[in-house]
Amino acid sequence: MRIVIASGKGGAGKTCVTASLADVWGAPLVAVDTDAEAPNLHLFLPPQITEKKTAFLDVPNLAPEKCVHCEKCRNICTYKAIASFAGRITLFPDMCHGCGGCFAVCPSDALIHAERELGELCRGTVLEGSVRFLMGRTRIGESMTPPLLRQELKLLADMLDAVPGDALIDSPPGVSCPAVTVAREADLILLVVDPTPFGFHDFRLAHQAFLPIGRPMAAVINRAGADGNAEGDEAVRRYCREKNLPLLAELPFEREAAEQYASGRLLAELSPAWRTRFENLRDALLAMEAPHAAKETNHA
Ligand code: SF4
Ligand code: SF4
Repeated sequence: MRIVIASGKGGAGKTCVTASLADVWGAPLVAVDTDAEAPNLHLFLPPQITEKKTAFLDVPNLAPEKCVHCEKCRNICTYKAIASFAGRITLFPDMCHGCGGCFAVCPSDALIHAERELGELCRGTVLEGSVRFLMGRTRIGESMTPPLLRQELKLLADMLDAVPGDALIDSPPGVSCPAVTVAREADLILLVVDPTPFGFHDFRLAHQAFLPIGRPMAAVINRAGADGNAEGDEAVRRYCREKNLPLLAELPFEREAAEQYASGRLLAELSPAWRTRFENLRDALLAMEAPHAAKETNHA
């Protein structure tokens, strides 16, 4: 089962939840960081990196001597990466999404395949080799994350084909293209909710944005029970009840937990009570396992 751990906003605690779930998972697992613009799962789960590779995007380059100025490439490029000025074709490779349309329509082979560096993909293991690890990281200055994420998700599929298991996928935050790109690959989406007014607003946005994807969804409140925020907690509970969104856990706000998190240590290792909370969350997720999800794994 591929579980995407998402949130409507950064800072809700999805990486923290992903890392502790990985710690208690107890079955073949890949821990995946797809928050490629600011990956930080490796701070909670220090990896042994065994493979790094640069990811590229196939972009066009122009062979001007072959161009017959038909402008078919410009017309098909919905991303405005090709313009025509005074009858001359000009390419903007940084705006290219790699769809391949211009190559397909060019009648004179005037477009040559070139590469734009997107970032890097790193593979390895965490938790003393017991869990496989995959991380994408965009190149500084790269504005488009989805092409890198598609390559990362393809690599994840290959890893799960080679050795079946589950995947816990730390999503990009928010509801923009990177988050939706990752959510589409989920068997189950777990929304981590920060029960503040901002967090609640963005949680509802995320729930509404991911609904059309048609995957089972559930929620977990992070930092529940903070002094003076009973109303915020109750707003999340009420929303979940009204929308039939399973609320699988409420992780309490505790000073010791905040200190554990701030120092990059796992909440699941803070105390037996915290470990039990994540084991219960794991069991609740597995009980929701989608009919089409992989069934090969045996959980402790
Ligand atoms: S590959 Fe697609 S996005 Fe890139 S320049 Fe060609 S048509 Fe535009
Ligand atoms: S489609 Fe090919 S030939 Fe036509 S304008 Fe573009 S590069 Fe030139």
